[in-house]
Amino acid sequence: MSKRKRSKSRQTIQPHIVKANPPVPERDRDELWRQRQWVKLFAEVTLKIRQSLQFREILRATVTEVQRILQADRVLIYQVLPDGTGRAISEAVLPDYPAILDLEFPEEVFPTEYQKLYAIGRVRAIADVHDKSAGLSECLIEFINQFNIKAKLIVPILQNLNSHQQTETSSPNQLWGLLIAHHCDRPHHWVDFELELMQQLADQISIALAQAQLLEHLEEIVEVRTAELQEVNRSLQQEINDRMQAEAALRRSEEQLRLITNALPVLIAYVDDRQCYRFNNKAYEDWLGQSTGDIYGSDLKTVWGNNCYERMQVYVKLALLGQAVTYENEILLKDGIPCSVNVTYIPHLDEQKNVKGFFALTSDISDRKAIERMKDEFIAVVSHELRTPLTSLHSALKILATGRLGNLSNDGQQMLEIADDNTERLVRLVNNVLDLQRIESGEVKMEKQIIKAETLMIQATEAMQPMAQQHGVVLAVKPMDIEILVDSDYIVQALTNLLSNAIKFSSPDGTVWLSAENLPNAEVLFSVRDEGQGIPSDKLESIFERFQQVDSSDSRRKGGTGLGLTICRKIIEQHEGKIWAESTLGKGSTFAFTLPLLNL
Ligand code: ADP
Repeated sequence: MSKRKRSKSRQTIQPHIVKANPPVPERDRDELWRQRQWVKLFAEVTLKIRQSLQFREILRATVTEVQRILQADRVLIYQVLPDGTGRAISEAVLPDYPAILDLEFPEEVFPTEYQKLYAIGRVRAIADVHDKSAGLSECLIEFINQFNIKAKLIVPILQNLNSHQQTETSSPNQLWGLLIAHHCDRPHHWVDFELELMQQLADQISIALAQAQLLEHLEEIVEVRTAELQEVNRSLQQEINDRMQAEAALRRSEEQLRLITNALPVLIAYVDDRQCYRFNNKAYEDWLGQSTGDIYGSDLKTVWGNNCYERMQVYVKLALLGQAVTYENEILLKDGIPCSVNVTYIPHLDEQKNVKGFFALTSDISDRKAIERMKDEFIAVVSHELRTPLTSLHSALKILATGRLGNLSNDGQQMLEIADDNTERLVRLVNNVLDLQRIESGEVKMEKQIIKAETLMIQATEAMQPMAQQHGVVLAVKPMDIEILVDSDYIVQALTNLLSNAIKFSSPDGTVWLSAENLPNAEVLFSVRDEGQGIPSDKLESIFERFQQVDSSDSRRKGGTGLGLTICRKIIEQHEGKIWAESTLGKGSTFAFTLPLLNL
């Protein structure tokens, strides 16, 4: 159907209900057919528009379809820009006429009052642009003449839905653009159908516009969210990589730790605060015949048995209270052979200083124990064997010295004194060796009893008085009236050892002080002070070790054995006390020891 022949009288696109009788006149049938065609076309174009999500594509389809249906010479979509100017952004135009697409329209062509009218849904249908009644300004007519426009139909495209129902009283719509149809060869009287089609399609464009904006908004959200997700994903990936690397490093270090601990001939373990094994090395299997799998998670009592656990229990408790402990124990190996072990527990504390468990190190000391036993036995035997002949030698020399068996020459007398001195020294040495051996082997038990400190101090001073006199040294005692629980013989022995040293190393006319005092931490402190030669600071600790002397000639000159201080330390330690020396060279020394008042 040519547009020139097309009826100008169409008013609506609503389908008519066709009745069978009476027979429809031919003119009405023709009209009905065209109406049906238009309805079909409209449905088609709406579908095409809706099928596209691309806004540009929708605009292009709209102008093409409108141009096709209305058989207009030009159909375009004009977008109104915020500054009042505008631009044709989509166009379908017959080849005979100039294209308007992408041309920018100056503001004068589209004044603000027009914009306001369009914003409330005003439709303009101009049958003849040159007709004065159309009311177009000269300037506009001049402008549109360039494009051969004879008739035009302008429908606003609003950004709100159903924008054509908006009134001036309701909230104003946003004018987005215009859907414009042109006839270029002659004026054209626009019929209702054309107006309605244009309005409906402008509405479709509004919907599409809203959808496009929504889509754009959604795309923006999706883009932001995608970027966020990618970032989260990236950091998750990083975290996974870091964790995998950390786990691999942990595995490597665990393997290394296991390699090292398995190679050591000692028991190494970690026990948690519920006394259950969380780590143990291979030596457990070699020693106890229990595999790592059996031991892991088992408690101490299960692994060691009741008897052994009873002996270790007290130290386990101390370790779980946060105290490092070392003790000796007897364990049974897998073949039933007993083995002496040295055990150390080191508490494991977290950052809040809570005890999480402890590390346990157990080493075999049965060889050392056996050697110690042999040495003790040897010393005991040798000393006993020496003591008897020495005693008779000493007695014989004493008898000779009396002269009852005949007088000796002066030289003979001198030789006798030397022999007597040295025999005495030897007796002291043997006695000291025996004392030390007996204390160290635990052969002697301290027979503690309550006694006044004063009594012990006087006893020791009285015993040393002859020696002090012999050396011309004054003994000054400041006794203290306090009761202590000690083995008095051994404490007197310690005191006399210290007094004897102080006298020996004092110059004649010197004074040696013996005093005692109460310390604030429930201890009593005994001190022996002299004004003698003093002791170098680097020797203050070593002199407590066996046979250690400041000067190796001391033993010869002063008649010492180098065992006195060792014995003193053993005695004091047996009383849970401490002993030490302080000294200033050339000014004198102080030997002090504490005894806990708790023992009282
Ligand atoms: P000794 O029998 O040799 O005195 P000790 O173990 O009693 O053995 O003393 C070890 C060494 O400590 C002494 O030989 C001496 O060198 C030094 N010593 C001990 N007491 C004193 C003191 N009061 N003044 C100076 N040196 C001392």
